[in-house]
Amino acid sequence: MTGSTRDPRVVPTRITSLTNDRVKAIRALEMRKERKETGLFVAEGASILVTARDAGFTAETLVHLAGAADSGIAKGLLAWAANSRAEVLEVSEAVLGKLAAKDNPQTMLGVFRQRWAEMPDAARLTPTSCWVVLEEVRDPGNLGTIVRTADAVGASGVILVGNCCDPYSRECVRATMGSIFTVPIARVTLADFLSWRPTWTGDVVGTHLDGTADFRTVDYKAPTLLVMGSEGPGLSDAMAQVCSRLVRIPMAGSLDSLNLAVATALALYQIRGEHLRL
Ligand code: SAM
Repeated sequence: MTGSTRDPRVVPTRITSLTNDRVKAIRALEMRKERKETGLFVAEGASILVTARDAGFTAETLVHLAGAADSGIAKGLLAWAANSRAEVLEVSEAVLGKLAAKDNPQTMLGVFRQRWAEMPDAARLTPTSCWVVLEEVRDPGNLGTIVRTADAVGASGVILVGNCCDPYSRECVRATMGSIFTVPIARVTLADFLSWRPTWTGDVVGTHLDGTADFRTVDYKAPTLLVMGSEGPGLSDAMAQVCSRLVRIPMAGSLDSLNLAVATALALYQIRGEHLRL
């Protein structure tokens, strides 16, 4: 999947055939199984690619629409690809249409290697560290929005516990708006999380519909771990039991819970509020 051996500085590979092997290989990254086996993923759009570049990522492959590489941003991205000796593919509209999202087609996309963070090391936490823990998050749009929000509030990273959706899916990557390249994401089984939990010295705040404390009244002890439950069943008993406190977000309407990403954003702004300034 790393491409040909020719120097991409000399000439990009032009592809017009929908059945080209490189096109098939990139398209196959829509499947989770393929992403898992190759360790690769696709990010679409010049602005997300700029974020990737600025975060120190290098693309394995950069794909661009033929005739659409004249803007300053596109030229800069092509220079970045050339400097890192990435494979560069110049493709026809039909080929790009096969590779890019149908509802929001972009003229550039990149193939990148996934990065997974280690679980936070207690010895290296700063007094203001805040990690978000998501148990069995299932909706890639929610996960992407949470990664983006974690970035916005300066959280240290996101920990995925148990059987979660893939942060490197197209939908999730797009929802992160580029934060997939800047927010460390760790993944762990429930059993491993429970073994690691005693190393955390600050508050482990679970958000729970049975929580008795109003999340706005709590004095959160840093470093803070914010633990969120799954969209369907919520927080498991095993996770709830290892939280140092359970908080609830008051609601006045007819429903009993908020959307997971919305609840995470409210809690994060409460926990991180004092560190955020205009
Ligand atoms: N039926 C689920 C339950 O019983 O928890 C609702 C899950 S809710 C859609 C997803 C997650 O968002 C919850 O597990 C919790 O972490 C958080 N959440 C949503 N609304 C909340 C609220 N009002 N108070 C506290 N946490 C909330």
